[in-house]
Amino acid sequence: METVPCAGCSTFFVPRNKCQMFCSKPCCQRIRRAIWQKQKLATDPEYKEGQRLAQKKWLQNNPGYWKDYRRKNPEKADRNRSLQKIRNMKTRCDQIVSTVSKTIGIAKMDARKSREYSLFGQYWLVPAVAKMDAVKIFIASVPVNSP
Ligand SMILES: [Zn+2]
Repeated sequence: METVPCAGCSTFFVPRNKCQMFCSKPCCQRIRRAIWQKQKLATDPEYKEGQRLAQKKWLQNNPGYWKDYRRKNPEKADRNRSLQKIRNMKTRCDQIVSTVSKTIGIAKMDARKSREYSLFGQYWLVPAVAKMDAVKIFIASVPVNSP
């Protein structure tokens, strides 16, 4: 069979069948499984409930795990706090748009977003696909007249 590029690492490999999109490297298989699970959680309520119960049971058997994890991995805890702030902001935005839409009776508005907040600071650049490594970046201002 012809070689194809892996959807995870882009290196070419020989697939076992036409549907295989990821090579056998552990990191690529982790991505494949994460995508499968995300899709399964979104479409299978029984699976979702089973996962929720299993996680709850595991946490009862491992009390203090997350507290210990955050203490041992302060960078990841910081990243998670930043991502939660983004999720909270998105939720608030969605609620406001929903409320305004219901009030005015318009399904979708093309509103301009306010740019009153500053973008300068440290951020995590997070890949949208699965749990690949995030990269910490720093955004600084550059004077307009710089060469
Ligand atoms: Zn790969």
